Amino acid sequence: MQQLLVFATQNKNKAIEINALLEGRFDVRSLIDLGYPDDIPETGDTLEANALIKARYVFKLFGKNCFADDTGLEVDALSGAPGVYSARYAGAHKNAADNINLVLQKLKNSTNRKAHFRTVIALIWEGKEYSFEGIVKGEISTEKSGTDGFGYDPVFKPENSKLTFAQMTLREKNLISHRARAFAQMKDFLMSL
Ligand code: IMP
Repeated sequence: MQQLLVFATQNKNKAIEINALLEGRFDVRSLIDLGYPDDIPETGDTLEANALIKARYVFKLFGKNCFADDTGLEVDALSGAPGVYSARYAGAHKNAADNINLVLQKLKNSTNRKAHFRTVIALIWEGKEYSFEGIVKGEISTEKSGTDGFGYDPVFKPENSKLTFAQMTLREKNLISHRARAFAQMKDFLMSL
């Protein structure tokens, strides 16, 4: 029998994607699927803290096995910023173009353009907490290229690639992305149960 696994997200598509990744072994439901439309507070100051806050919040609400993810772009020359503040780097209006412009402006005189995306997943399984991480290393380009993807994709070039994430298909991006790697870790754990 499929076991219910609640994904602390308002995004139904994310839950569908993870269901596919877990090969139908689990019944992954988003908060929307469970009739919970409210945002969960993200008050942590690290990706780890935020993922755990969201997972614990959902566990308290439903008492079911659940997980939450949190992702950030960490730029070496900016001491790891925007990091946990990636979505709202240029302000609470959470505008991707403004966020990108701010990163480019801050790196204007920097020759060190190294950066990585990092995804952290907090899983609460039978009352125990587990954590998984996925990283993709790369660099911030000097200008935007490409129209696919979202967020910082137009200025992020993964290692050994001439293309930004925004110039790749979703399939190409998913082969190497931070999120795919973090979810692969969680999948290994869940499949070994
Ligand atoms: P979230 O934790 O998945 O909501 O991601 C937080 C923020 O990080 C997003 O709003 C984006 O600004 C950025 N981000 C996360 N994943 C990606 C990605 O795959 N490409 C580009 N930006 C991303």
